Amino acid sequence: TDIKNTAGKKVLLASPRGYCAGVDRAVIAVEKALDHYGSPVYVRKQIVHNKHVVSSLEARGAIFVEEVDEVPPGSVLVFSAHGVSPAVVAAAAERGLNTIDATCPLVTKVHREVQRFAAEDYDILLIGHEGHEEVEGTAGEAPHAVQIIDKDDSIAAAKVRDPKKLIWLSQTTLSVDETMETVLKLREKHPTLQNPPSDDICYATQNRQVAIKKVGAQSDLVIVVGSANSSNTVRLVEVALDAGAKASHRVDFASEIKEEWFEGVETVGVSSGASVPEELVDEVLEYLANRGYGDVRTVQTAEEDIQFSLPAELRKELKAAG
Ligand code: SF4
Repeated sequence: TDIKNTAGKKVLLASPRGYCAGVDRAVIAVEKALDHYGSPVYVRKQIVHNKHVVSSLEARGAIFVEEVDEVPPGSVLVFSAHGVSPAVVAAAAERGLNTIDATCPLVTKVHREVQRFAAEDYDILLIGHEGHEEVEGTAGEAPHAVQIIDKDDSIAAAKVRDPKKLIWLSQTTLSVDETMETVLKLREKHPTLQNPPSDDICYATQNRQVAIKKVGAQSDLVIVVGSANSSNTVRLVEVALDAGAKASHRVDFASEIKEEWFEGVETVGVSSGASVPEELVDEVLEYLANRGYGDVRTVQTAEEDIQFSLPAELRKELKAAG
């Protein structure tokens, strides 16, 4: 009967998926800091937006806090991959904390763009999700120059002092297609709006969206592994649906998958957000195999070999320790 049950059933596994270079580096930074300094090592905000990663590091002695003032003076504090504003850096210094900055270099790149254009007295329209940590950190580089463009009402509300000095920048983990639509709407109102010097939506976000588009177009159901507060993960669910998947669901763990999703489903697409360890995807594939979806075909749309070196202050410390 098992053989009958598997007829026509298959899994399309998106590649690239899962860990990006910025997440990998941030997680390793906390692990190395724990090895080197011992517990506790404090981390401001979730180091990356994944429940499993955070609880694993907690079990090893990391303490996650919301703000700098929760950290005892003299402690080691890691800034998360999403980046921090200069005000947070200053508060940590004032408190005498030994900080390690695990901000992804591709987020830092956007911070530099904000600094540069603010210095030239531009108005900066930062497309991103209001309240997201990355957006708070990026906007915090020049609060007087940055306006956050999230929903349509923020497009209408955007104020421009000098049309010749107007640029849009963005959060790194947005939907590429949606962002372009927002730019079109902005440009309708502000024809002189300039483009960023280079893509702010990062390679990992873009690659995962391209892969899931191809998978989504051929799937009845797409399962995306990742946490609810992970921006790039939530975008993958939306992109899969836009690409034609009949249904798409996000799960943190295989145990959250529901039997009723599989009614009439032959092809199941699978992907994962940039902060998701591969073991969580393996558990989903195991769940699927147990229900007759054991034929797994990889749909690869790009190769990734990007790696970032550890935060400089940590490298220096580890080197000095031999
Ligand atoms: Fe960096 Fe992109 Fe990964 Fe965010 S998703 S940590 S910007 S590589």
